[in-house]
Amino acid sequence: MQQIGHFIGGQPVGGTSGRFGDVFNPAFGEVTGRVALATAGEVDRAVVAARAALPEWAATPPHIRARVMMKFKTLLDANADALIRVISAEHGKVQSDAQGELTRGIEVVEFACGIPHLLKGEFSLNVGRGIDSFSVRQPVGVCAGITPFNFPVMVPMWMHPVAIACGNTFILKPSERDPSVSTLIAELYQQAGLPDGVFNVVNGDKEAVDALLTHPDVAAVSFVGSTPIAEHVYRLASANGKRVQALGGAKNHMVILPDADLDNAVNGLMGAAYGSAGERCMAVSVAVAVGPVGDALVERLSHKVNALRIGPGTDPDAEMGPLVTRQHLDRVSSYVDLGIQEGAALVVDGRGLKLQGYENGFFIGGSLFDRVTPDMRIYREEIFGPVLSVVRAPDFDAALALVNGHAFGNGAAIFTQDGDAARTFVERCEIGMVGVNVAIPVPMAFHSFGGWKRSLFGDHAVHGPDGVHFYTRLKTTTARWPTGLRAAGAEFVMPTLS
Ligand code: NAD
Repeated sequence: MQQIGHFIGGQPVGGTSGRFGDVFNPAFGEVTGRVALATAGEVDRAVVAARAALPEWAATPPHIRARVMMKFKTLLDANADALIRVISAEHGKVQSDAQGELTRGIEVVEFACGIPHLLKGEFSLNVGRGIDSFSVRQPVGVCAGITPFNFPVMVPMWMHPVAIACGNTFILKPSERDPSVSTLIAELYQQAGLPDGVFNVVNGDKEAVDALLTHPDVAAVSFVGSTPIAEHVYRLASANGKRVQALGGAKNHMVILPDADLDNAVNGLMGAAYGSAGERCMAVSVAVAVGPVGDALVERLSHKVNALRIGPGTDPDAEMGPLVTRQHLDRVSSYVDLGIQEGAALVVDGRGLKLQGYENGFFIGGSLFDRVTPDMRIYREEIFGPVLSVVRAPDFDAALALVNGHAFGNGAAIFTQDGDAARTFVERCEIGMVGVNVAIPVPMAFHSFGGWKRSLFGDHAVHGPDGVHFYTRLKTTTARWPTGLRAAGAEFVMPTLS
């Protein structure tokens, strides 16, 4: 059985708390590892290491920091197969999907390689006679990242490459469901030449998280996970004087107008609703069928959902793997039960799936509901599994009202050939990330990723320009040199420069 400890100050460290969490291979339903759950004392040790490494790293010129990122990127490419295997083994997602996750994470490292350009400041000559002004962005200090199970490499990489390239030091508290890959990442950073203590990993649960949120030497906290925990993180970390960005859950809608290319829409929906077994924050979980398109849409979807190829992550033909834990499997199944009780029409039932050779695995088939209505809990709540709800809307305005009436505002998409309708949708929807004939509109690394409403607490999205702003503080200097000095004595009025 694998023992998974922490990585602090450049060293692997075993847990001392005596508390452990089970790590599973979800395809077999077997425990494969034990992850140490850190105490507040162990968190403090990581903060001390990160604090000690900070002055030297913050003073390292940005282009030298970028060179470490370039080496790190090369090592990620060279070790891709090992990383993908570990992601898939503990999360359950199929390896081709794990490859996609890694690629999207590496793109943020590529973005961080451009940090000298991104940190260039602003300069104004002669804001007064002989007086100049300049603005720079400086690191905030020790940053913490608390991340969910569903993207064990990509979501942490939304954070640490940008934070570190900006000159901060970092402590990652990954999900306790699939923690192993974070140790590999720490080792690759070390091989890339990152000084010890700049990147640390502390495994754990609420105890470790709350210790980070309240530690006086942690300056900024990035969180990604479910909405109730995002809200807790936002409140507690803000109350302790930290800069916080806390990304939460989602219920992403895809609106299909009657003029949409239906093949495209159905293919888009299949990948977005059932890829990664629906365990994506950008998964589409609601299809809004506008006007007459509903019957044809449900008919085509039902064939495809019944034909989904489900298997372990190692099966190259599988389109969808198991769910992450038995608990989560039970939760998703109970939402299908609930949908029936609430009166939705269950078109495809994925419950009770058993795969030969994987009888204890956490598998569920794809489920499809039709005639879901906004008052139902299966519509209002995030299920985070392969369950798609079709809602019928009479027209465009009713569809847009559904999108905007929902508590979450992470992603939404519209499928249509009508440019005017698409443009109106993009302008009026209260959503952070919008797709036009694109089902999963995850922004590239050089744009920023973040939702609205109950999908993000805080002022900054992750990576891209917002990431650089989040991980830096603005300093503006006004400077006068001897030729600009005035002979006059003390000035008691608010200074104006002329
Ligand atoms: P989660 O909220 O259960 O856990 C996220 C992190 O919080 C983990 O590191 C966990 O250890 C920690 N945590 C859990 N309970 C805690 C508590 N009571 N106090 C303090 N910390 C706690 O989320 P999850 O199940 O790992 O991930 C799935 C969720 O993440 C979904 O809701 C999904 O939508 C969301 N998610 C959102 C985005 C986004 O960009 N908005 C991206 C990925 C995942």
